[in-house]
Amino acid sequence: MSKMLTEQPHRRYNILTGEWILVSPHRTKRPWQGKTEKSATDQRPQYDPNCYLCPTNTRANGEVNPDYKSTFSFINDFGAIVMDGEQTEYNEGLFKAISEQGICKVICFSPDHSLTLPLMSVDGITNVVKLWKREYAELGAMEAINHVQIFENKGDIMGCSNPHPHGQIWAQSSIPEEPRKKTATQLAYFQNHGRSLLGDYLKQELEAKERIVAENEDFVALVPFWAIWPYEAMIIPRKHYSNIGQLSASEERSFAAIIKALTIKFDNLFEVSFPYSGGIHQAPTDGKEHPEWHFHMSFYPPLLRSATVKKFMVGYEMFGNPQRDITAEMAAKSLRELSEVHYSQS
Ligand SMILES: [Zn+2]
Repeated sequence: MSKMLTEQPHRRYNILTGEWILVSPHRTKRPWQGKTEKSATDQRPQYDPNCYLCPTNTRANGEVNPDYKSTFSFINDFGAIVMDGEQTEYNEGLFKAISEQGICKVICFSPDHSLTLPLMSVDGITNVVKLWKREYAELGAMEAINHVQIFENKGDIMGCSNPHPHGQIWAQSSIPEEPRKKTATQLAYFQNHGRSLLGDYLKQELEAKERIVAENEDFVALVPFWAIWPYEAMIIPRKHYSNIGQLSASEERSFAAIIKALTIKFDNLFEVSFPYSGGIHQAPTDGKEHPEWHFHMSFYPPLLRSATVKKFMVGYEMFGNPQRDITAEMAAKSLRELSEVHYSQS
């Protein structure tokens, strides 16, 4: 590998967003005097009478959750976007605004309050994948919905207030900023080459072998070349699928298996329930064909050196662009070498 990439300050280009990140590998040689202690492992009950996501419990709006046995979804009682409200624009000189409508849903991954994705069975995670597919299809088919964002905020460090295994879906009429950038870069590449940008990228990564974390028949998990967060990772399907609706039954299971493998490695890194924001980027549901899109799932974990040391996006990163010390290759190597058996079960 180029000496620049391992020893010298350099900038790396994100082919999906068209943005740059500063990498400073030489700084990993400086002494570290911060805290490195482990945090206490939290033992949770399988059912919490005070949890608004557990089966049979009553939510704040008075509705009662069914006694669900695998997954369960409902419209968020306090959604950031809602369906009613008229469509209006506000243009007053340089003041510009436009109304937005949409639906926010909560997706319970399991009735078991004590679980997380890495602790769930592959069958259990496959049920989550099936629900994601159903929601993407149903919400995406709605006239007013042009984009469906599936995501999970895991851990209180990420601002997630409830430990019950769950994610969210925000479906809305406009295409948000991150997928808008990714649509433009993938479309430009597809028009120039007639192939998937991420497909070609994956091919180059599989040849380089430096940033691969885990793979199976249908998916590859890797630390992207342009990763911002210390242990950022991405799951890419080997096939050029624009959305999760195209997954076959066996591919749903492979997707679940690689999600489990990657999140176990995350937990094993610092022997803690690893916090992250994870989400799926896929083709907009605006009624157009999107042959340029290659769906993928990204994980943005904030932890840096231990269960308690978090990376902050401050200073230069607010004024310039993101910066990291530990390289994507070093992070991938650490994750790759970890066991695929969860530390609590080994
Ligand atoms: Zn619960």
